[in-house]
Amino acid sequence: MVDPREAVAAVVDPEIRVITIDELGILRAVDRDAATGRVTVTITPTYTGCPAMDVIRADIRRALAAAGHPDADVRTVYSPAWSTDWISTAGRAKLAAAGIAPPLATRDAGTAPATRAGTVVPLTLAVRCPLCGSAETEQVSRFGSTACKALWRCRACREPFDHLKAL
Ligand SMILES: [Zn+2]
Repeated sequence: MVDPREAVAAVVDPEIRVITIDELGILRAVDRDAATGRVTVTITPTYTGCPAMDVIRADIRRALAAAGHPDADVRTVYSPAWSTDWISTAGRAKLAAAGIAPPLATRDAGTAPATRAGTVVPLTLAVRCPLCGSAETEQVSRFGSTACKALWRCRACREPFDHLKAL
């Protein structure tokens, strides 16, 4: 029997297949009832109505059943709301490697002062091209390859890329 936390943490996001739900930060808790052995998983959707959540719930149940934990409960919690800050450092690196621009974490943005020598740095600098690193990017469409991503284009290398919507 595999540890339920381990089994659930390995489930990949159905839309961004390079990243696990744990790295994406939507996995909140995995609890096992000591008396009954029943596993309860708590997840927070990346945004309300994300169609991938049904797939994720089914994938979690399947992974737990394969690990020897049938009849798992998957609970969805909306508060506190998921934010892109919850993506782990490893997750951000994987997103970047896959050509998906990971949104800058608020804690990272905090290290770049808004005013340095009187210069106001616009927050849009956060969207960098995952291919060449240029900040000269523009949003082409609010919807990229999936509803959770927006389509952006780099003005430096002219390549389009998916940007995970920052919330
Ligand atoms: Zn570029």
